[in-house]
Amino acid sequence: MSDIGSLFEKIVAGKIPSYKVYEDDLVFAFLDINPLAPGHTLVIPKKKYETLDKVPDETAAAIGKVLPRLARAIMKATECKDYNILQNNGTVAHQFVPHVHFHIIPRPNAKAGLGLSW
Ligand code: AMP
Repeated sequence: MSDIGSLFEKIVAGKIPSYKVYEDDLVFAFLDINPLAPGHTLVIPKKKYETLDKVPDETAAAIGKVLPRLARAIMKATECKDYNILQNNGTVAHQFVPHVHFHIIPRPNAKAGLGLSW
């Protein structure tokens, strides 16, 4: 995809459709288009920062405040108690979209989310 760099900015702006899960002044969350499990959600700063180390304190705090809340809501909705939070930085670390995002990935059973392993 040629304009992968602006993909999530376009989603925040509503120029590309998404299934919105949460929004405030600094943070946006939406369902992953290619989920590892039902409820797989991406939590992003509205403004684009390529990697986590570039995110300013206020935005980092806003994301940190929302992540547990969203985890609770998603686990309730998916009736799941186990989940992974995944955050990739840089291509070697498997970051595909260069706009910071936290994956919340419900793990309903050992087989779900097979693409994720250590
Ligand atoms: P990463 O490999 O950490 O950069 O993950 C990028 C994630 O973005 C992948 O899980 C993709 O499925 C997801 N993704 C790519 N395009 C879209 C889109 N248009 N809407 C929702 N999720 C997307």
